[in-house]
Amino acid sequence: MTRRGVGLRWSSAHPGRVDGARWVPSPNHDARPVGSPVDLLVIHAISLPPDRFSGDAIEALFTNTLDCDAHPYFDQLRDLRVSAHFLIRRRGEVLQFVATDARAWHAGVSSFAGRERCNEFSIGIELEGTERHPFTAAQYRRLVALTLLLAQRHPLRHVAAHSDIAPGRKWDPGPHFDWGRYLAALRAAGAPEPARTAAR
Ligand SMILES: [Zn+2]
Repeated sequence: MTRRGVGLRWSSAHPGRVDGARWVPSPNHDARPVGSPVDLLVIHAISLPPDRFSGDAIEALFTNTLDCDAHPYFDQLRDLRVSAHFLIRRRGEVLQFVATDARAWHAGVSSFAGRERCNEFSIGIELEGTERHPFTAAQYRRLVALTLLLAQRHPLRHVAAHSDIAPGRKWDPGPHFDWGRYLAALRAAGAPEPARTAAR
């Protein structure tokens, strides 16, 4: 077992925040329902504009500061109020927008194993990427480390693609996300492996 978790740890001062992730607070969150255990991890992919892996448009979107006139694609994002708990950029940098104890707005209309409104009981991780490019080794390393850390605080039992819980509406993280690689790395780290239980 490698010490892949080095660099990420739970904050002792701020519940649900991860030290080692760059904290970029998003106003797009609210309280989770009382008594709703967080047992689902949802994997997403995003790039803004699509296929461009530079700039700060994703964090601007999640903090409601995106200049929607700056690119034609951004016009459809006007008035959108969304967030995720985490973003892992191409080189492995981890950003956190919402404490994991709070509800981020990443899943939208969704259903997992008969349960609606997945935001209530899930943590959302965005990988910077598209359906056209492989994700980077640095992203897999950080995703595994982050998953292991999250499982220390939350009773994660399942991991799903956004496309699993919003089929037909969402494509991400797409065909280039290597589930076998991700789940094998969790297994190799000795973690209880969350099952990818498709909601299809
Ligand atoms: Zn998504």
